[in-house]
Amino acid sequence: MQIDIVTIFPEFFRGPLDYGIIRRAREAGLATIAVHDLRAFAHDRHRTVDDRPFGGGEGMVLKPEPVFECVERLNVAGRAARLAGEARQSVVLLSAQGKRFDQAEAERLAAMDRIVLICGRYEGVDERVSQYLADRELSIGDYVLSGGEIGAAVIVDGVTRLIPGAVGNEASTRQESFTAHAESPGTEGPISTCVSGGLLDYPHYTRPAEFRGLAVPEVLSSGNHDEIRRWRRRSALEKTVRNRPDLLHEAVLSEEDKSLLAQIKREEVC
Ligand code: SAH
Repeated sequence: MQIDIVTIFPEFFRGPLDYGIIRRAREAGLATIAVHDLRAFAHDRHRTVDDRPFGGGEGMVLKPEPVFECVERLNVAGRAARLAGEARQSVVLLSAQGKRFDQAEAERLAAMDRIVLICGRYEGVDERVSQYLADRELSIGDYVLSGGEIGAAVIVDGVTRLIPGAVGNEASTRQESFTAHAESPGTEGPISTCVSGGLLDYPHYTRPAEFRGLAVPEVLSSGNHDEIRRWRRRSALEKTVRNRPDLLHEAVLSEEDKSLLAQIKREEVC
């Protein structure tokens, strides 16, 4: 996958994209990441990329010309072809007004051959970029950041780790929090049976079995795979009820899940 990032702070990306899975994916040639300095596409002596807003108001706005010129130089497919799915490419504008980036969106982007991430600054980017250049506008959450760079790093991370081969154990990316598509429950142990189905992940423990008097749940050392699976599923349901009840509406729930959920809710009332 080719990933291009358009920013006025190219130096920002020294670091966030140089560690762990992203670094390995780059070294293995699974992802190529290029960072482009928007100011290189400004034409005046001061390399101006922003200007005052039409209609008045606070702050400055990123001008459209350098953004269009920079993205056009990248030779991406036309917007219509991208929107029609004829080209597996996407030009994304990072924006607080965008659709919220989530695991499903990460999966859609991971299926692309190429993504371009445009980082806004100041009060934002001239709206014509969203209307005529980008094919999607994405927000990384309901808060306002001072620039799109951190959002772009979030998207690169979330997407890169889904590229086949990027994570050593591929099964692990299919059974994490939010992963919506249900997989057929296997029988060969706890690993294959603990798919998230859209819930939060179950709790993880490692050695020591007792730490400062705090013991790891006994069931995890029992060797009883079915009990471990049930405990993990129940814990994932409990955590989702507690922290993200909204996810339950979309989650893939089995009959067993529904009875566990009823149990959890009964216990909550008590
Ligand atoms: N005036 C805008 C905020 C501009 S913040 C508003 O109220 O919506 C400047 C830039 O930071 C934006 O252009 C965008 O690229 C980035 N940004 C801010 N919040 C973001 C978020 N939640 N997700 C993604 N990008 C964000």
